[in-house]
Amino acid sequence: MGSPASRLSRRPGSNTPRCGGGGSAPGQDAFLLDDSVMSGRYAGGAPIGDLRLHPDLDRLVPLAALPGWALSPADRYAQDGSVHPLDARALLRRETARLAAQGWTARAAFEVEWVLSAGRAGEGFVPACSGPAYGMTRITEQSDYLRDLLLALEASGVAVEQIHPEYAPGQYELSVAAEDPLGAADTAVLVRETIRGVSLRHGLAASFSPKAEPASLGNGGHVHLSLWRRTSDAPANAMAGGDGPCGMTSAGESFTAGILRRLPALLAVGAPSVASYLRLVPSHRAGAFSCWGLENREAALRFITGADGEQDRAANLEIKCFDPAANPYLALAALLAAGRAGIDTRDTLPAPVAVEPGALTPHERDRAGIAALPTTLGESVTAFEADPVLRQALGEAVIDTVCVVRRGEIELLKDATPEQVIAATRWRH
Ligand code: GLU
Ligand code: MG
Repeated sequence: MGSPASRLSRRPGSNTPRCGGGGSAPGQDAFLLDDSVMSGRYAGGAPIGDLRLHPDLDRLVPLAALPGWALSPADRYAQDGSVHPLDARALLRRETARLAAQGWTARAAFEVEWVLSAGRAGEGFVPACSGPAYGMTRITEQSDYLRDLLLALEASGVAVEQIHPEYAPGQYELSVAAEDPLGAADTAVLVRETIRGVSLRHGLAASFSPKAEPASLGNGGHVHLSLWRRTSDAPANAMAGGDGPCGMTSAGESFTAGILRRLPALLAVGAPSVASYLRLVPSHRAGAFSCWGLENREAALRFITGADGEQDRAANLEIKCFDPAANPYLALAALLAAGRAGIDTRDTLPAPVAVEPGALTPHERDRAGIAALPTTLGESVTAFEADPVLRQALGEAVIDTVCVVRRGEIELLKDATPEQVIAATRWRH
């Protein structure tokens, strides 16, 4: 939704106005990638009714890539002022509050990978640089573009930590500093829209599709997550300084184990498109196996301790199997719920995996207790629907709508070849 600046005002005395705001059709949650609309119990169907979108003015930032425009995340309310049950920002706030009620807080950051194509979105993919993976050549080839991108992000207040050429042709990656969960999800959206805008101004097109090109690695949307004990002095990182595996505290271990146990179900929100499963394959650094390991880029959960001397600050869990088709709010809300369930049941981790799981034989994987993650969206949706923890945390409306929409896309693409799935998805994310 776009609004002139004169429409942006807080309700006096409130940060979250409940009257006014912009209008929004209630069916938006039920759209498929071809813009057809599903008919779910809680979303879609007849285009009747209206919701109010209220910009969160604390997160309003100028969009340097789109002069004259600013971007603000918004919260969704029904006309009667109640929070809409499908409002993913509200869900994430609620999960963060539930964790806080138990004495914990979380820090998160999304890594953004994208492939850059010459020409306009909608056309075929033509890598906008030809230098090799990770090499300086790709920086040189697109130095004006990358500089403008960093300047635009700086002007919007984003704390960029690193930008680098990634593995796949035309691919780059940008990392940002960790924030509170809501801030991290807001930043993920801002970063992506800034990349899209700067790309366009340079006559280029950015694709955030999980798999934009058949022959190479896909785009990951890895989530970095750490759990912190809320104390009266400085918060303490539960992923470090303990006597659990790799230095985790027992709560850090349980939080991680709660996520590991629910990865098949979590993929319905973290790897939510049919194309996600073309990316999520062994030996593509996407984390296609349900296991964890220290700095293991083929494990779905890569544990990172950080360099000597900075573990207390830097230790975190990287959820590698998630991709940029995910709604970052929903993805983080589901991860926090899964981690909290692990803390509640004092879950423990299996042994870390220090080898590439795809290089083991099926028998060796069985012996090590390593299972393959779902290989289709349908399997993930079935696991999601059956998971009592996620159902309780996210609520019936979210579970039903996610399942209806995912199954709609499965049906839509059921006869498509991988190349057709990639072409249909490439410019939709
Ligand atoms: N592009 C890979 C993915 O699909 C990740 C590469 C890496 O960061 O090691 O997740
Ligand atoms: Mg990467």
